[in-house]
Amino acid sequence: MPYPPTVVSLGLAGGQGKSTVALMLGRYLGRLGIPVLFVDCDPQSSLTSFLGVQVQPDTPTLLEVLTQPEEKTKIIDAIASVPDVKLGDRIINNSNLFLIPSDDGLESANYKLASSGLSLFILRNRLQPIVSNFGVAIVDPPPERSHLAQTSLGAGDRWVIPAESNVKGVQSLLRTMELIKEFKPALPYGELMGVVPFRARWTGLHPTNATKTSIDTMQQLVGDELMLPHILESDVFKNAINQRVAPTDLGQPNLEYAIHVLAQRLKPALTEEY
Ligand code: ATP
Repeated sequence: MPYPPTVVSLGLAGGQGKSTVALMLGRYLGRLGIPVLFVDCDPQSSLTSFLGVQVQPDTPTLLEVLTQPEEKTKIIDAIASVPDVKLGDRIINNSNLFLIPSDDGLESANYKLASSGLSLFILRNRLQPIVSNFGVAIVDPPPERSHLAQTSLGAGDRWVIPAESNVKGVQSLLRTMELIKEFKPALPYGELMGVVPFRARWTGLHPTNATKTSIDTMQQLVGDELMLPHILESDVFKNAINQRVAPTDLGQPNLEYAIHVLAQRLKPALTEEY
């Protein structure tokens, strides 16, 4: 039976929009009725807090999933349901969203992964028995070249790179492309779905010079095919994240156009029709 796709939101610098793209793609697919498994592979645990999941002291997190044998920690026990959200007099239903959460203790998994010598494949192997219960898995890795980043990369068969629409974003994109190039020979199933320019700034009808220059440079680096629409710099996005909803829930679906296009690119890889 074919496995559902695992998408990894990659970027080798902080603040590039990895968690935002992972979160909004998952929320978008969840709204379509697709069961989504998020995996928070970053010890900063932004995704866990953006989804409003509280790590409980007596339940396993991704740390135990990655460092303990299946006989000791069943991966299924680490999967949390994402709570619904009350937005004014509406309830935003999150019943399609699930998460393997993390907290800052996840950092210590790096040592265990390093000593295993197989860090590239550990998360993929651990997800394999359960991933077919979902329509898609979405992994949010840390922003540096750690073993956690490697195991995230190896877990994915679809990679997306968000990159801030400025000089730092172009540098992050370059480093991330290098990482992919380095490991691609060991990961023949992995495919880059696209690059999402993040926090693009516009004044009136035009992008600012810094935004235009960086997006043009990204396009030259990856080619037209892999360039996805940008995500605008917008307080609506920030408010949506803080209120644990999506811009669409705040009446601004147009701000999610990049996520819509990304979801369309993913559709052929889904194992069921939604
Ligand atoms: P890190 O590597 O540090 O985890 P990241 O790459 O996951 O960062 P995000 O956490 O997704 O980056 O985003 C960085 C910040 O940008 C967050 O504080 C988020 O609230 C904010 N943000 C998200 N979307 C937008 C937007 N469209 N406009 C402005 N700010 C945004």
